[in-house]
Amino acid sequence: MTGGGRLTPLSEAQLAAWDARIQPAPEQIAPDVWALPVPIPAGTIPHTLCYALIGGDGVHLIDPGWDAAESRAALESGLEAIGRTTADVRSVIATHFHPDHLGAAQALREEVGAQVVFSDVEDSVLQQETAPAASDLASYREQLRTWGVPKARWDELLGSFDRAAHTSTGTPDVAVVDGSVLVLGGHRLQVIATPGHTDGHICLVDDERRLVYTGDHVLPRIYPGIGIGALPGSDPLADYFDSLDRLSPYDEYAVLPGHEYAFHGLGARCAQLVKHHLRRTTELVGLLGENPDRTIWEYARRLTWTAGWEGMTGFWLHSALRQTALHLDYATSPRSRDRLAAHRAEPARH
Ligand SMILES: [Zn+2]
Repeated sequence: MTGGGRLTPLSEAQLAAWDARIQPAPEQIAPDVWALPVPIPAGTIPHTLCYALIGGDGVHLIDPGWDAAESRAALESGLEAIGRTTADVRSVIATHFHPDHLGAAQALREEVGAQVVFSDVEDSVLQQETAPAASDLASYREQLRTWGVPKARWDELLGSFDRAAHTSTGTPDVAVVDGSVLVLGGHRLQVIATPGHTDGHICLVDDERRLVYTGDHVLPRIYPGIGIGALPGSDPLADYFDSLDRLSPYDEYAVLPGHEYAFHGLGARCAQLVKHHLRRTTELVGLLGENPDRTIWEYARRLTWTAGWEGMTGFWLHSALRQTALHLDYATSPRSRDRLAAHRAEPARH
């Protein structure tokens, strides 16, 4: 893994707006590429960065953002600011199925006939997530029991369990796979499968403009949750590390993420992400050494959490338990051996 470079914002305006929780103005990234903010209604994070690729045939959108009136109005005014309208949209590409990314795709297909593009794996993940059985609370109750969650915390976790809020609907008109090439009105994008955040997540590489669209796979400061849409039997954390490695050829490219701000220093950021997760896996390996028979709950409350364990409630508590379960799977998987050894051998910094 490279990572000697520094992480520098490409857009100070996007960075300042994110920190102030306001929408930045549409920003020109390349002569025919714009970043348009699309607010997330009542979200814990303020907005998605939708990218508008201007082609000879119209506009192609990467991650159109949430499907809500407020979000749509922002997308429309963003397009207007660059002299376009939604009627010009020819295709919509989603990095993954989460509603702050794929969200408005279906509506744009219905309204203006835009072609919807996402990965074939994500199509399977989405079908699994929207299947009627998936909304059944019984299986989640069973999970809380096997995780060893004290009964007193069940109501809070069951109350925050709302798959519908985390899911969009629809199937792709074009299902892409790793290595697919999309030619969109003069923009040639190579699809890189980057499972981890979700099993079917993709990044898109534009070699001509030296840009990489990273969705939620790599964000400049946020540590994306892992396995938020995983097929049975997958190992999202091991996949995530491999997916970070897959971006190493593009260290010099500008990074256009789904949130926060555009930046340079992809290798440096990937190295930080790996280190962050391996630190937690290593901590868990230590706890396993003390006692290999604890429940997920017992491991989770002994781990170090940025926001502290005591304040962990509702969805965040669920997320912490889920991340602990993933790290436990990873710690005991043969896929972790080499990476953990390399991590231990590295001199500790910061
Ligand atoms: Zn997102």
